[in-house]
Amino acid sequence: MKPALPSSKCQHVGLAQSQVGEITLCPDCRVVHISLQYFSMRFDLDAFDALTHMLATAQSNIARMAQLSQAGYEALEVRAVDVANTETRH
Ligand SMILES: [Zn+2]
Repeated sequence: MKPALPSSKCQHVGLAQSQVGEITLCPDCRVVHISLQYFSMRFDLDAFDALTHMLATAQSNIARMAQLSQAGYEALEVRAVDVANTETRH
């Protein structure tokens, strides 16, 4: 399997765009490019999948935090760490 290095032949297909940046895919390299204002990141498809789950978890925790007291917030932190540990095992 050839390494997924950027190439001048890369054809980036747009996946999503917003005020914070854009996400494109090179189908040949199977690499997802996240371009933000000051930097960009590259992920293989598995890593991008893991990233999206992590972001969704963070966002749902933010929404829950907004409804929690300080005591509830501390309990949430413990659960968030547990989730992270579980997800890194597979
Ligand atoms: Zn490419």
